[in-house]
Amino acid sequence: MSLATVDLRKAFGGVVALDGATVTFREGRINALIGPNGSGKTTYFNCVTGMIRADSGTVTYGGTDITRKAPHAIARAGVGRTFQLCRVFPRMTALDNVLAAVRPGGVSGGLRGARHRAEVDRARGWLTRLGIEHLIDIEARNMSWGQQKLLELAGVLMGEPATVLLDEPAGGVNPALLDRIGTLVRDLNAEGRTFVIVEHNMDLVMSISDHIVVFDRGRPIAEGPPSLIRTDERVLGAYLGS
Ligand code: ADP
Repeated sequence: MSLATVDLRKAFGGVVALDGATVTFREGRINALIGPNGSGKTTYFNCVTGMIRADSGTVTYGGTDITRKAPHAIARAGVGRTFQLCRVFPRMTALDNVLAAVRPGGVSGGLRGARHRAEVDRARGWLTRLGIEHLIDIEARNMSWGQQKLLELAGVLMGEPATVLLDEPAGGVNPALLDRIGTLVRDLNAEGRTFVIVEHNMDLVMSISDHIVVFDRGRPIAEGPPSLIRTDERVLGAYLGS
């Protein structure tokens, strides 16, 4: 399902973070959202996922208005998200982290028996898919930054989101892991998942995106495929601060 906003606005005191953002991230694509620091990308993610409330404007997912829905309801509707500063439980193992992502009541609460085993299998499956199954019993705090980001993503994927929002997946990640993230996103997209990726690493953005939206000062100033965005004068101007 496509994720779309119409005239989304958000100010923090006198600071206008979103200034009428009208954007459609189409289903099935790897979409990127780029722009200079402070251009409103994180605020956009926060409004779309219900973490902060926009002052005005609408957010729709698959045509349904989700503007005023709570974060858990938006997640349940199929929009998953990772965070720039990576949210994992440092003192929990990889397995428990991934299980906790889909069990608000906590790892030990809730499921028993066959259903519990089925979920553990599914969690193990995602850890394997992301190449961190060897860390299954390791506490998150003992993993590298990149491994923690993969762990966070495993938790998001446990919720089986049709659309995945990634906030700076490449930030602070070593080059080997970066390749893996790129391949993974492409594979997950080929299986039908839609992506919206906020990312500063232009090599990654240009190599994996189908469609790029460029923000400047809280609104889109250009959009299109990488081949067009790479040479767009407005984009170059925004990045050079002119
Ligand atoms: P980006 O993700 O593109 O770097 P942000 O969405 O983080 O941009 O920020 C957009 C603008 O809103 C910036 O000027 C930032 O300082 C401001 N801003 C973001 N969040 C807050 C907040 N909670 N309180 C005050 N100002 C904020």
